[in-house]
Amino acid sequence: MIFMPVGSSCKSGSYKIKEGISLKDIMTNNLGRGFQLYQEEYEEKVIEVMRSGWYILGQELKQFEDEWAQYVGSRYCVGLASGLDALILAFRALNIGEGDEVIVQGNTYIASVIGITSNRAKPIFVEPDESFGIDLNKIEKKITKKTKAILVVHLYGIPCEMQGIVDLCKKYNLRLIEDCAQSHGAEYHGKMTGTFGDIGCFSFYPSKNLGAFGDAGAVVTDHEELADKIRILRNYGSEKRYYNKVAGVNSRLDELQAGLLRVKLRHLEELTQEREAIAARYIEEINNELIQLPIPRKECRCVWHQFVLQTIFRDELINYLKERKIGTIIHYPVPPHLAEAYIGLGYQKGDFPITERLADTVLSIPVYNGMTEKEIDYVVDCINKFRGD
Ligand SMILES: *Cc1c(COP(=O)(O)O)cnc(C)c1O
Repeated sequence: MIFMPVGSSCKSGSYKIKEGISLKDIMTNNLGRGFQLYQEEYEEKVIEVMRSGWYILGQELKQFEDEWAQYVGSRYCVGLASGLDALILAFRALNIGEGDEVIVQGNTYIASVIGITSNRAKPIFVEPDESFGIDLNKIEKKITKKTKAILVVHLYGIPCEMQGIVDLCKKYNLRLIEDCAQSHGAEYHGKMTGTFGDIGCFSFYPSKNLGAFGDAGAVVTDHEELADKIRILRNYGSEKRYYNKVAGVNSRLDELQAGLLRVKLRHLEELTQEREAIAARYIEEINNELIQLPIPRKECRCVWHQFVLQTIFRDELINYLKERKIGTIIHYPVPPHLAEAYIGLGYQKGDFPITERLADTVLSIPVYNGMTEKEIDYVVDCINKFRGD
């Protein structure tokens, strides 16, 4: 029997696993597969929007904003051009800027930090806990008179330890912003990420769990004045056309992307369950003493944006899997405090040993919608046979 994933865009030919079964490259992500799952619905929507003659700030966006707010459990949603813009405008709407400090975990994607520094505020890094979230026990000693907010990042789709963080924010009167770029639909104690603080920031970059077919993002909030402020900021600072209250930006989620996101949102629950099923198989079946599995947080729904292993034999594992046509990615090889972009912050190697160890040992393996049981079998089998060379 020949097994050939449809539409996978690998360059090399098929690979023989066992007698009779061959497989194309298994990429860490495969967006083409995700598209094919609901191809007709997407294509229909594209034609509908194209034919509508209205492409920016129209009905598709309004409806997507309502639907996303309702899905997340927030009162308001404002669609934006990207996840980074969501972060930048969230801090701006909260008047966090020059002279202010924002606490954030050290092991995040650099966009989280750019959201802070674009507003001229200073990121104060905290080490992560064993589930890759900000370590609750290490936050309090970083709070100073200048601290204005905590930015939590539900990295890889695992919610942070929210109860303690919400309590700390109350105790010190801090703003709470959530970076939910990787946590669409993730829940902490039955409550969705994005609803714990002042503003939840989402990215709909194509590879995210709810991904558009281009760039897109949004904020959610329960505060009307924050929603209004960001809605005005995203459109040059004007509420009424050509009457500008502030010097805003152009950061709008276009009609085509909004329409396509509405299609995907109808299927998000089943898409999330598919990711959960893949992760459950990995957790159940990967068994190799050289490899540490991710630790989901208790009483949480993790949505497995990435499935992240840790191993000190990372280079060997990458090459070993590559030889077997399995793709992997490192999320992320350089922590923000050591990024060239942030040399000015004055950090050095050794300042955040846990963050740095993660940067040296994490490895994401394939998880995507449309992944087949055979592909999962093969990934598990290969990883279990890895001997460190
Ligand atoms: C993707 C991502 C962002 C940025 O989103 P864009 O839409 O690409 O701008 C921010 N934070 C995290 C954690 C992300 O994964």
